[in-house]
Amino acid sequence: MLDIVTASEWFGSEFGRPIIIGGPCSAETREQVMSTALAIAEIKEVSIFRAGVWKPRTRPGNFEGAGNEALEWLAEAKAATGLKMAVEVATPAHVEAALKAGVDVLWVGARTVSNPFSVQELAAALGGVDVPVLVKNPINPDIELWIGALERINRAGCKKLAAIHRGFYPFEKRGLRNIPRWEVPIELKRLFPNLPMICDPSHIAGKWELVQSIAQQALDLDMDGLMIETHINPSVALSDARQQLTPAQLSEMVGSMSFPTSTT
Ligand code: PEP
Ligand code: MN
Repeated sequence: MLDIVTASEWFGSEFGRPIIIGGPCSAETREQVMSTALAIAEIKEVSIFRAGVWKPRTRPGNFEGAGNEALEWLAEAKAATGLKMAVEVATPAHVEAALKAGVDVLWVGARTVSNPFSVQELAAALGGVDVPVLVKNPINPDIELWIGALERINRAGCKKLAAIHRGFYPFEKRGLRNIPRWEVPIELKRLFPNLPMICDPSHIAGKWELVQSIAQQALDLDMDGLMIETHINPSVALSDARQQLTPAQLSEMVGSMSFPTSTT
């Protein structure tokens, strides 16, 4: 059992449904954050700006995020645009720094969700915190691990919870970057009907041109929102360059998709 408030009680009234989250994989520079946020703020359907500040890279030697300094850029982008800010947190120190900087929404990444020790430490740091927490599926299609992370964070007192479906690791490197296995989020929704389910089509697709069709499939399955990686200049992005949309592409995509008519 999860003791959560329903979707319409938190993001339904505050952020709209479907909730649309847009922003770069990583916050890279002040200019990149500001220019991306200002362009995204023009898209009325987008209510939350995402940016990774600490990046959980699978292999060492890659860009690992700009760290605490990036939180200042996000605070500035929030003041300039009115967009809510969302950041990935993996440690209690991340939680503390993000909340101090005024971050509005936290998310837990797929690699962190795969480790109950990390989730338990995060849950302790989230105790008594009233910000929404979005919990991605683990790397592998292990629904129990996903549920376990939601339960640990919920038992710490977080009631504004949502799940993010970002697909599952395939060994074969062709086609989609991560396999959707739609039956897994569908089963989670069956078990927890009040839990909002957001799709991250960017990490499923792995290529920007495949993002829209995955996003539409998620909406057709009545998912409650989308998180879409968007960068002012994707070709020079320091992480996930191949899958990010430009703000203009995001705007066009959101404008051309058919949204569900239900409001619950
Ligand atoms: C991300 O959102 O940029 C990210 C690292 O995602 P995931 O945890 O789903 O791999
Ligand atoms: Mn990414």
